[in-house]
Amino acid sequence: MSEKVLVVTGGSRGIGAATARLAGQRGYSVAITYSGQQETAEGVVNEIRLAGGTALALRADAANENEVIAAFQTIEKELGNPTALFNNAGITGPICQLEDLELDVLDQVLAINVRGAFLAAREAVRRMSTRHNGQGGAIVNMSSRAGQLGGGGEWIHYAASKAAIDAMTIGLAREVGKDGIRVNAVAPGLIDTDIHERAGGGGRLERLLPGVPMARVGKPEEVAELVLSLLDPALGYVSGAIIPISGGR
Ligand code: NAD
Repeated sequence: MSEKVLVVTGGSRGIGAATARLAGQRGYSVAITYSGQQETAEGVVNEIRLAGGTALALRADAANENEVIAAFQTIEKELGNPTALFNNAGITGPICQLEDLELDVLDQVLAINVRGAFLAAREAVRRMSTRHNGQGGAIVNMSSRAGQLGGGGEWIHYAASKAAIDAMTIGLAREVGKDGIRVNAVAPGLIDTDIHERAGGGGRLERLLPGVPMARVGKPEEVAELVLSLLDPALGYVSGAIIPISGGR
């Protein structure tokens, strides 16, 4: 059983996978959850193991209560009590304006991004809290600059889901600070993953690049570094913070 156990929701690709790999290198036992992509998730786990780390992939739809509870029970049994959670799983839904928004899309975005983050945070807090004989821990939620900027006129359904994460981060930090748990969020700007193409915005990164003062998109590995820093006890007095990582945007 490891002293440092990190759960990464949606760890099969993109920012989640980059964070899982880095955490493996930094001595965490890493559990990644995924919804549909078993092969990709197993690939990330194999990479971590080949580099000498400990890792586990578990199928758990972020929005499904039973699957999330079962995943945390398995993690507890296989790796030990989680000491860290990166609440990363998220979708954007298609780029569209409110008048074209289908309610199914809104429901799905809120279910995965908000309900999912609440579910994983609840299971983590139940195990980390010093009130329940846990050892404390740290949670990093995945927000977005869209949560504060409103989504740039492209997808307020997504922006609103991330604003909910900001409120949850601040509120939960207040709620569980005395129980040895820190809660923070990262709020990336434009990061180079497939999520932009999946949203149906061909060339979206290039189109939005002029709005980035540093004139480049970010890398998943750069977000991973920030997440690992926020989880580190060296930043043990940082809680309730939402940290932009956006090249100045
Ligand atoms: P991505 O699409 O590569 O990653 C999304 C991850 O979430 C994947 O691992 C996917 O399998 C997982 N996921 C989706 N639905 C799930 C479900 N129902 N259950 C479990 N896992 C599920 O894109 P990414 O850019 O790496 O996104 C990761 C997070 O970062 C998301 O929350 C996204 O909103 C956020 N974000 C991304 C950017 C960016 O520019 N890429 C900017 C701000 C915030």
